[in-house]
Amino acid sequence: HSTSIAQSQNVLRVGTEPAFPPFEFQAPGGGLQGFDIDLMQAIAQAEGLRVEFQSLPFDGLIPALQARTVDAAISSMTITAERQQTVDFSRPYFKAGLAIAVRANNTNTTDLASLQNQTIGVQIGTTGAETARKIPGATIRTFDSAPLALQALLNGNVSAVINDAPVTLYAIKANNLTGIKVTSQLLTEEFYGVAMPKNSPNLDRINAGLTRILSNGTYDQIYRKWFNA
Ligand code: GLN
Repeated sequence: HSTSIAQSQNVLRVGTEPAFPPFEFQAPGGGLQGFDIDLMQAIAQAEGLRVEFQSLPFDGLIPALQARTVDAAISSMTITAERQQTVDFSRPYFKAGLAIAVRANNTNTTDLASLQNQTIGVQIGTTGAETARKIPGATIRTFDSAPLALQALLNGNVSAVINDAPVTLYAIKANNLTGIKVTSQLLTEEFYGVAMPKNSPNLDRINAGLTRILSNGTYDQIYRKWFNA
């Protein structure tokens, strides 16, 4: 597809759903911050590109890629076979997985089997929502963001939340949420990738930039900044 004059080849329009700390979230003074935001900027810089972020609902990211209103999406998006039918992913850049969150006084919920017939909160369009859908007898409540699902758990409106473990753990720690905990079992192993439209000319560039920052210490620096490791 052709490149218009207004849309410079050096500008990468990148979609993200900005309520998923510490990966992507609103900075106090406006704008975006987080691990993915720094990572995308570093990848772009390594490749001589400039990033323009666009905030979108999570379930609007793949449609936006298909409509090519964005060139890429970085949003803690798990690389799945289903998504690979409609978009391409960069090489994996982060290992995560799902965890179950429950209220701190809940001693009955330990694994997926113990969630049968319970009311479960999830973020719409996520792997957490897919996982919850398979639990027999479960009632699924979908929320526009992970923080809203966790708030419903705190309020007692759902009995559990299935969400990416690093995000739930960060929310508990950063907001000192003593009312909720993560059960010991990590449900899945998932890898995040940068998503792009099929046959995007940016796929090779983004992979090259990612490879460069993984080997020159930039990735480790960004990792330490957001995960204190
Ligand atoms: N990793 C999960 C997924 O890809 C959640 C992503 C998110 O909510 N930003 O579905």
